[in-house]
Amino acid sequence: MPKIYLFLFIGFFSLLGCKSGKNLVNTDTKENKSLVPLKLPSSITKEIVAADLSVKSTTEIISTLASDEFEGRESGKPSFDLCVDYVSNQLKEFGIKPLFNNNYRDSFKLKGVSSYNVLGLIGDYDPSKEHIIIGAHLDHIGSEKSGEDKVYNGANDNASGVTAVLQISKVLAQYQFDKNIIVALFGAEEKGLLGSKHLAKKMAKEGYNLSTVFNFEMIGKILTTGPNKVYLTGYNKSDCAQIMNELHGSLFVEFLPAEISYQLFSRSDNFPFYAEFKIPSHSLSTFDFQNYAYYHKLGDEVEELDLENMNEIIKSSTLIIAKFIAEDRQISMKSKQ
Ligand SMILES: [Zn+2]
Repeated sequence: MPKIYLFLFIGFFSLLGCKSGKNLVNTDTKENKSLVPLKLPSSITKEIVAADLSVKSTTEIISTLASDEFEGRESGKPSFDLCVDYVSNQLKEFGIKPLFNNNYRDSFKLKGVSSYNVLGLIGDYDPSKEHIIIGAHLDHIGSEKSGEDKVYNGANDNASGVTAVLQISKVLAQYQFDKNIIVALFGAEEKGLLGSKHLAKKMAKEGYNLSTVFNFEMIGKILTTGPNKVYLTGYNKSDCAQIMNELHGSLFVEFLPAEISYQLFSRSDNFPFYAEFKIPSHSLSTFDFQNYAYYHKLGDEVEELDLENMNEIIKSSTLIIAKFIAEDRQISMKSKQ
């Protein structure tokens, strides 16, 4: 068989192979494929992550997300859609493909209006392999009609979490992982976790092999107990914190007693994935009710945050998650929940 025919023949069958996968998932891996060869995850080091993730780039991303231009990122508003475009372009720049239908937007209805999650995929899609979600909610609570400062910029809630997810994704996209890594920026969290509920239901209905969810929620302040640490919601439901600390080599993930009384586990976008799949699905946060006075207030601005510490948390999380996926670690649910 001449070379050209052999090529076409193989091409035809790999196309068939792709088609047998989930039909909603983007199977066109050519278009956005990185031109730089992907590296082995075992080569990731603290130094490499530090070189990729500067305080400067973290500051640029969070300042853009929390700018007045997006008018408080309220799902359903045109200004939220502008922000959707901004994060979609960031993913594209990092060489991350859309998860569904060549479109980063995963739409759902919100009181008759369309709103969106932004979904990307790191790696070449293989539906038979495990899926891991790295997520954060993109939306916030909008703006007042009048006043000197009328925009709820939501720098901590949750431009900080979105910045973490974008920065982590930027690094992970340079490596060849053996799992499907879904980057998820949820809409309408502030309206009742609508975006994450929509995605969790869709993935459950279509039988996705989802194993783990890491959700980032308000990481812009230093935890009262000290720097470069987070707490985990649903700490006692799994051994996630223990595994993350082991991969970090020292204490990074803590228990916050207040998470129980405030029922934080069920109040962010990790919860719908736990509800549908009963898998380890947690939020990482540093908002401990003592270290920030501007939760859902007009004063939740970038200037109020500890960006160096936030960047340290992002670097630590990147390394932990990269090792977690590369080493095929599995988090176990605890029987007594
Ligand atoms: Zn939030």
